[in-house]
Amino acid sequence: MPLLDSQLMALARWISTYYVCPLGQVLAAMVPAAVKKGAGLKKEKYVYLAEQKDTEIKTTSKKQQTVLDILNNKQAFEADSALLKNELLSEAGCKEGVLKTLSRNELIRTVLREVFKSPPAVPQGAAPLDSDKEIVLNDDQAKALSALNDRIDSEQFGVTLLHGVTDSGKTEVYIRAIQKAIEKGKSAILLLPEIALTTQTIGRFSRRFDKIAVMHSQLTGPQRNAQWQKINKGEADVVIGARSAVFAPLNNLGIIIVDEEHESSYKQDTVPRYNGRDVAIKRAQLAKAHCLLGSATPSLETLHNCRTKDHFTLMSLPKRVMDLPMPTMQLVDIASQFSSPKPELISPQLRVQLEQVLSKSQQAILLLNRRGYSNFVFCPSCGHTMHCKNCDVTLTFHKRKQRKPAMSTITGDHMSYGHAICHYCLAKTLVPKKCPLCKRKMTMIGLGSQKLEEELQKKFPEAKISRVDSDAMAGQDAHKYYRVLKDFTDGKTDILAGTQMLAKGLHFPNVTLVGIISADTSLALPDFRANERTFQLISQVAGRAGRSQKRGTVVVQTLLPDSPAIRFALKHDYEGFVKAEMPHRKNCNLPPYWRMAIVALRDTKFDKLTEASDAMKWRIDRMIEKYSLDIKVRGPMPATISRIQQFHRNQIIIQAASITPIQQLFAQLRSGPPIKPAVRVTIDVDPVNLM
Ligand code: ADP
Ligand code: ZN
Repeated sequence: MPLLDSQLMALARWISTYYVCPLGQVLAAMVPAAVKKGAGLKKEKYVYLAEQKDTEIKTTSKKQQTVLDILNNKQAFEADSALLKNELLSEAGCKEGVLKTLSRNELIRTVLREVFKSPPAVPQGAAPLDSDKEIVLNDDQAKALSALNDRIDSEQFGVTLLHGVTDSGKTEVYIRAIQKAIEKGKSAILLLPEIALTTQTIGRFSRRFDKIAVMHSQLTGPQRNAQWQKINKGEADVVIGARSAVFAPLNNLGIIIVDEEHESSYKQDTVPRYNGRDVAIKRAQLAKAHCLLGSATPSLETLHNCRTKDHFTLMSLPKRVMDLPMPTMQLVDIASQFSSPKPELISPQLRVQLEQVLSKSQQAILLLNRRGYSNFVFCPSCGHTMHCKNCDVTLTFHKRKQRKPAMSTITGDHMSYGHAICHYCLAKTLVPKKCPLCKRKMTMIGLGSQKLEEELQKKFPEAKISRVDSDAMAGQDAHKYYRVLKDFTDGKTDILAGTQMLAKGLHFPNVTLVGIISADTSLALPDFRANERTFQLISQVAGRAGRSQKRGTVVVQTLLPDSPAIRFALKHDYEGFVKAEMPHRKNCNLPPYWRMAIVALRDTKFDKLTEASDAMKWRIDRMIEKYSLDIKVRGPMPATISRIQQFHRNQIIIQAASITPIQQLFAQLRSGPPIKPAVRVTIDVDPVNLM
C-alpha cells in the first residue's frame, strides 16, 4: 500500500512548488521517520493448535495435555486461536521443552507475528467530566457553531476565522464542530502549537472522542508509528497534533482546525519551510473540507484574507464565557527602576500584587522574555561585551546552582560560578573576571529568568517558586517542563516564572495574577512583526489571568508605556491595534498587503559569500527583466544575526504584490545552473522570522 494517497500526493506537489523545495524532501517530511523505520514493530512467537489428523493418536504427558487444553479453550471461545508463547508457558506452568515435543509431534504450530510494542499515547476510556457534559453554549458560541455546521454540511471548501478573546469558549466550539463532522461520517484534524499539547489538552479531547490519535514531539518512535498506523487503517476519526499532523493520513476529511493560527511556530524552520496553517487551508481545499482558524489575536494575514477573499469568513466571540470579566490591566513605567544602580525586576506595584495573591493562596505567573541569568557580560569601563566565537551575538550568562564548587580546576582568572552560553550554537565559554581589553572588572547587565527567580526567592522566601524557560525545555529536559507544569496545576507551586512559552494556551484556574517583567523586549526585535508579536504576547499572557470566577490582574512593566502595541493590548483592543498597524504595512509594501520571500545565503568565507550573493542578485535581476516580473528586490545585505556557527549570512529580500511573480522567479532560478561560487542557499517563502 502506498504511504500517501492521491490527495496527499497533490498536497506534496503543491508544497514543493509553493515553498520551492524538491518533492523528495517534502515527501520525507510528510511521513514520520518512525513509520518508515517501522519503529516499535516486533516479531513475537504465537502458538496455535495444529489441524487434527485422526489417523494417529499421540499419547501426551500431563503437562502437554494442559497446554493442549488451554489452546483448545482459546480456539473454542475466541476468534483468534493463537496465543502468545510466553503467555501460554506461564499459564500452563511449563517449560519450552513441552512445546518443542508437541510441535515435533505436530500437535501444535508456532507462527511469528508482527506486533506493535508501544505504550498508549492517548489516555483511553475516560468518561467525560460532568462539567464537560453540562456546558450549554452561549449565544455567540451557538451562532458560530451553527454557521460552522452549515459549512460542514455543504461539503464545500471554505475558511472561517474564529476570533475569540482568550477564554471565550473557542475550544468548546471546536469540539462541537468536530462532533458534527463525525456524525456525518467524516474525520477531523486539530492542529495546536506544540507547546499547548499537554496532557491536560489531550485529556480534554480524549474524554470527548473515542477514536482519537495524537501526533506530537513527545511521542516515542514506536508510539508515533502506532498512532500513524492507527490513522492510516481508518481506526481514528480525530487527529490532534502539532504542525506535522496536517499530513495525517485521514480519509474523508470534514474539517481541519488550526488553533492559535497566528503562532509563528506553525512555520517549520528547516526544509520544507512550510506554514502548517497555510498547508491546512490547502489540504482543506483539496479535500473539499472546511478549515477553521482560531485565535484571540488573529494574524494580520488571516484578517486581511477575511477582508479581501470571498471564501474567508470572520466570526467573533467577543466575550469570555459565563460573562467572566476581562482581567484588570495595570501599567507600570519602570524607567526609573532602570536608572538606579541596582535595578530590580519586580517593581513595588508588582510586589504588592504578589503579596496579595500569596496571602489568598492563589497563584501567579511571571513572564520575562529572556533566558539565562542576565543578558550579557560587559565591561563598564570600556564597554566591551562578550561575543560568541562562532556567531555574531552577545553571550548570555548562566549561573550555576550554588552548591557545586564549579570549575574548581580553573584558575582565578574566570568567574567561578557559571559560564556564558550562546543560544544559537550552544557553545559554552568561561567568563573572565577582568576585561580582556582594559583589564578592569567585568560586570553583568540585563535581566534573565534566572535572575528573576533569585529575586523572587529573596522577596518571598515562603513562596514555592519554579521556573520554566526554553533552556529547560530543550530536548530530553522536556519531561521536566511537563512536570513543572503539572506541579503548578496541582497547586504545589505558588509562582511560575519563565519566558514567553508560558503565555501559550495553558489553563490554570487558580492563577489570578500575571506579571510581565519587561513588555518591551520583543518590541526591540529588528522585524516588521515586532509590534504584532508584542501585542499578541501581552494579550495571550493576559488570557492566563483569572480563567475562573476569580478576577484576574495583569501587571505590565514597561520602559515604553506609549508604544501602540502595549497601549492597545492593555485595553484589549485588537481592532485599535490593527488600525494603527496596517497603514505601516501598507506604506512599506509588507505583508499582509504584499508577499515576501527571502533568499538566504551562507558560507564560512566572507569574500566567497559576498561574491555569491552578488551573483545571485545579478541572476535575479536578469530573470525579472527577462520575464517582466513585478518584483522588488532588496539586498544582498547581512542578516540581523550576521554569523551563526561560523557561517556568515546574507539575505536577499523579494517582495511582490502577489505570490505569482515570486513563484515564477523561483521556478526560473531553480531550473538554472547553481550560483558560483557555490555557497549554501535557502529560500524561505512567507518568512515569519527575519533574523
Ligand atoms: P478558549 O479556547 O477560547 O480559551 P475554552 O473553550 O477552553 O476557551 O473555554 C474556557 C473554559 O470555559 C473551559 O473550561 C470550558 O470548559 C468552559 N466553557 C466553554 N464554553 C462554556 C459555556 N458556554 N459555559 C460555561 N463554560 C464554558
Ligand atoms: Zn554561537
